[in-house]
Amino acid sequence: MSTELQELLDSNKQWAADTETREPGFFSRLLKQQTPQYLWIGCADSRVPANELVNLLPGELFVHRNVANVVVHSDLNCLSVMQFAVDALKVKHIIVVGHSNCGGVKAALLDARTGLVDNWLRHVQDVRNHHSEWLESIAVEQRVNALCELNVLEQARNACQTTVVQDAWARGQEIVVHGWVYGLHNGLLEDLRITAASADQVAPAFQRALAAVKQRYEAARLQPAA
Ligand SMILES: [Zn+2]
Repeated sequence: MSTELQELLDSNKQWAADTETREPGFFSRLLKQQTPQYLWIGCADSRVPANELVNLLPGELFVHRNVANVVVHSDLNCLSVMQFAVDALKVKHIIVVGHSNCGGVKAALLDARTGLVDNWLRHVQDVRNHHSEWLESIAVEQRVNALCELNVLEQARNACQTTVVQDAWARGQEIVVHGWVYGLHNGLLEDLRITAASADQVAPAFQRALAAVKQRYEAARLQPAA
């Protein structure tokens, strides 16, 4: 075994011991219950560790991650996670979280060819194509982050439109869908305010959030260069 991997295993032993010392009975309690309130759908990027960013412990956040935090209606992996989270765990919130300078979004924006993932990123290219006129109207250096935010809005709307969420709302289950973006440069999460707690809130929430994103980037473009 390589030294590096042994370091990981040693580090895990230390973490488990430290955790048990800090909170005696932590693991035996965790074994008995998993009651997270939140489902996090985020990017697979290693710089965006879900639990750490919101300072939640294991057992408090149910997590699904893929390249560029995409919610596709035919992706059985994501849909299965969503259904378990909503139907079995009864999470109260689904949060789609993108991040600035996302490599997947950048590749989609620039038509970069990297391999199999190009097919997956077609979903982000659909977002790009849908908003291409507006994206071309803002400064080139702002387009990646703007598309990261547009992608969050589109994927959060997709989450709202899954049968999992639609059925939950139809039977009166409380569940709120959100869209956030994480700044790699400052470690801060920002709420893009596409917040929907029922089927009829989805379209107006999407339009409001979209207008706010566009307004912010347009205002930045109009500011004189420092
Ligand atoms: Zn990413």
